[in-house]
Amino acid sequence: METADLKLDGNALGGLLGEVFAAEITLARSTCGSCGAVREVGALAVYIQAPGAVARCPGCDAVLLRLVRAEGRLWLDLQGVSCLEMRIQAD
Ligand SMILES: [Zn+2]
Repeated sequence: METADLKLDGNALGGLLGEVFAAEITLARSTCGSCGAVREVGALAVYIQAPGAVARCPGCDAVLLRLVRAEGRLWLDLQGVSCLEMRIQAD
């Protein structure tokens, strides 16, 4: 089988990403991309005085995520999170 035969477009992720965004996010465990600390999202330091919400690592103060809600849209920047682990129902 050729690699090209295994290639799909982004629509193939629809079901999996639906599980990600349906999970209880405050219980998800985030890994800081800067210091490697692992904490539940609910334990992050959050600042809401910005145009959106900013969550920082309580250990090294790196920005882990930014969330802006405006004009009928949501912008989610997870650039500072190297991994987000969440519980889902077992198959
Ligand atoms: Zn950190």
